[in-house]
Amino acid sequence: MTEATIFPQLEIPNTLAAGPGPGNTDPRVLQRFASAGVADHMQPDVLRGMIEAKLMLREVMGTKNVYTFGVAGTGWSGLDVLFSAVQPGDKVVAFVNGTFSGIDGLTLRMKAATAEELAASPLDPKPASVVVVNVPHGQSVTGEIVEAALAEHKPKWAMMAHWETGSGRINDIQGFSEACQKHDVMGLIDAVSSLGVEDFRIDDYPGVAGWASCPQKGICCLPLTYAPVSFNDRYIDSLRKTGTRTFVHHPILEARHWGIIDGKDVEKGTYHRTHSAYAVAAFHEALRILLQQTVAGRAKSYAFHEAALRDAVTAMGCEVTSNMTSLVVLNLPGALAGREAELVQACRAKGFGIWPTLSEPVQVRIGILNLLNQQSITDIVTRFAQALKDFGAEVDTDAVLKNLQKHYDTAVAAE
Ligand SMILES: *Cc1c(COP(=O)(O)O)cnc(C)c1O
Repeated sequence: MTEATIFPQLEIPNTLAAGPGPGNTDPRVLQRFASAGVADHMQPDVLRGMIEAKLMLREVMGTKNVYTFGVAGTGWSGLDVLFSAVQPGDKVVAFVNGTFSGIDGLTLRMKAATAEELAASPLDPKPASVVVVNVPHGQSVTGEIVEAALAEHKPKWAMMAHWETGSGRINDIQGFSEACQKHDVMGLIDAVSSLGVEDFRIDDYPGVAGWASCPQKGICCLPLTYAPVSFNDRYIDSLRKTGTRTFVHHPILEARHWGIIDGKDVEKGTYHRTHSAYAVAAFHEALRILLQQTVAGRAKSYAFHEAALRDAVTAMGCEVTSNMTSLVVLNLPGALAGREAELVQACRAKGFGIWPTLSEPVQVRIGILNLLNQQSITDIVTRFAQALKDFGAEVDTDAVLKNLQKHYDTAVAAE
């Protein structure tokens, strides 16, 4: 008999998570996570926590949609629930302008493919009923692009990422919603990167029938908790008629544990699947923090700190091509072009967790999720300047830091 290998305890260091996500989890969230007692998923306080989280989530998302709740897992879990109403043969237009909307498009192609179409190319089906509109990396999806495609194809569903994290671009949600309304299309939005970062209310976009986000970006709740989703009545009515081939990711069934039954709030949830008391406690606290800071307050803070970082990397000779406020996506100074992956790797080896783009062209991405203070931004700027210098770029770190200090001094003076 061979001995079982037992590895030493797993130690994971604390890094500066300065990427597109996950963001730094608030200590208060971790404290609630670790302080929750062992309790099963039908224990009254766990069920109450889920009801309260559902009500807070409606505030955070700005909606009266009854079907608003959390899906256990990550962003893709919420998106899988969002796309679950799409049936084989359904007509869909998907707008793709980067890595993540690209995967959303793939998911939709899998859902809308007929059995024959799926078997013809199981991992990358190309169903005749799905039109993918590709917008080049670094550009936003505009209302005009959406309007033209929906006018031409008249689909049942349309999909767009609100903020495309792959290229750091904000897409035109107003134009998308208007085009969906005009052409009687049900809009589906990937709001994984925007919820909790931008100040918006989903009810202001009536052309959008369903939304999905994630726990670990704007909600700051990584300890594998809940991906927020929300559906309007039209989506739910459509799903009631067609049904869908999933139990666990069925929007109507999954909502039951959150106390949503037959389109109405009920006092307590009924069993759908096991929920973790730790996850419920953590998610509940993350939503409390967000509402205490307010969505508008957080959005303002992101814009302010992103501007500071943007100015600093521009002063180092980088070119920023993004317009999201939780992330800068940049081209390195000309002399370092082509060395993006190598530079990112060198930073990551030192616990400075920045990212390259995951699809062409290769660029560098630096994020500030839940790093909204002068000290964190200064730390990021200092480390990035050093990395550029290590690669042979000429950077006047003192001048860059002096300018950064000025950004913060001016803000204090203005208050
Ligand atoms: C991060 C991200 C996802 C994927 O989320 P996971 O939590 O990794 O599953 C999907 N869409 C967008 C726009 C994202 O930014």
